[in-house]
Amino acid sequence: MPQLLSVDKALAQILDDMQPLDSENVALAEALDRVIASDIAAPLDLPPFDNSAMDGYAIRHKDSVNASQQQPATLRVTQDIPAGAAPTSALQPGQAARIMTGAPIPPGCSAVAPVEDTNDNWRKRGNPALPEEVQVYSDYAFGANIRRKGENIERGATIMRAGTVIQPAEIGMLAAIGCARFAVVRKPKVVILSSGDELVDVHEALDAGKIRDTNSYALAGLIRQAGGIPIRLPIARDNLSDIRALYNRALGINPDMIISSAGVSVGAADLVREVMDELGDIDFWRINMRPGKPLAYGALQGIPFFGLPGNPVSTMVTFEVFVRPALAKLARRALRRKTLTATIAEDLRSDGRRSYNRVRLAREGACIVAHSTGSQSSGALMSMLLADGLAIIPEGQRLAPAGSELPVLLLRPFE
Ligand code: AMP
Ligand code: MG
Repeated sequence: MPQLLSVDKALAQILDDMQPLDSENVALAEALDRVIASDIAAPLDLPPFDNSAMDGYAIRHKDSVNASQQQPATLRVTQDIPAGAAPTSALQPGQAARIMTGAPIPPGCSAVAPVEDTNDNWRKRGNPALPEEVQVYSDYAFGANIRRKGENIERGATIMRAGTVIQPAEIGMLAAIGCARFAVVRKPKVVILSSGDELVDVHEALDAGKIRDTNSYALAGLIRQAGGIPIRLPIARDNLSDIRALYNRALGINPDMIISSAGVSVGAADLVREVMDELGDIDFWRINMRPGKPLAYGALQGIPFFGLPGNPVSTMVTFEVFVRPALAKLARRALRRKTLTATIAEDLRSDGRRSYNRVRLAREGACIVAHSTGSQSSGALMSMLLADGLAIIPEGQRLAPAGSELPVLLLRPFE
């Protein structure tokens, strides 16, 4: 039997080939979960001007020396500065300005006395008229209750690095600095191909011997989940002209990746292989893994191509192992994939290939226990539905006895 290629070697070659994608501009409102393409610096200070942190009175702090409830400092109120307004004059000694949170402090002001700490009960009065005088009940330090220009961010500072995935806080910050459109990494456009005389689409009748095309839908979900844009093409029949037309149509879309499921197993491969030879440079790998030994990989007219094995579980597992990391590199995203260690509940067997066993996880006392999801046949899609993760038996090992620990690659969040 020819030497099998290790998972790690295959993945290393794949990742080496992937070229991160270029960028496109998006509007801020469309930017959630996109990846920033280049560092973003603040074009202004934040806050952009000194402003009040409280509703109250802008004062000169020296005017409040030794002030208390018993001996308030009485100040003359000379102006009103609501949010959004600009001060009309500087504060002179003995003067105060009524000010709202976020409003710019006037020149000469060196502290803000919160309204609760004055004799003004404007909220109770319900009367917005400016009083002539205000009594301040505390002694304020220089700068008290003032938010200084640039104290959060100084103009020119880098606030987001290339590669940051935009979350709501980033959206808020980009709005604050006036970034209405900016460069994000393009989403990988991925064409999905299916071929086989046995396949019908989901809305078609299931005549004798037929099965529904499962993989192209599952793959579309996986691609979308990985931040890509899936494009499903109609099923090709098992003949040369249909398959050739399908591949040419895929290339005409000029995608960033093409994924086909099926057609790479022994016996099925010939037609697809002929078309691949015409259009590109594809290797037919035999990988030391289970499920998913056969994998076609290479480039069609320069576009990365994966020919995944057709059994639905194999398709999904090989996507996890090879395609998801490849898409992450194209999309310039960190591959945030979690592996944890679990104690297996029953014996798991392998044939010496690295094997990915579908398991359900449960917290039992201090342990995380992995239970097999039943039949591990590569056609048994139910094993994927029930699985929280893939328990990995390393190559060379044929038995993982109950009670031993295995690494589990999570397929969904597990708390
Ligand atoms: P093949 O590589 O063409 O021999 O296919 C291997 C197995 O995967 C066969 O049982 C196919 O019927 C099945 N298969 C291939 N493509 C799909 C698909 N798109 N959806 C579901 N099963 C498929
Ligand atoms: Mg087939």
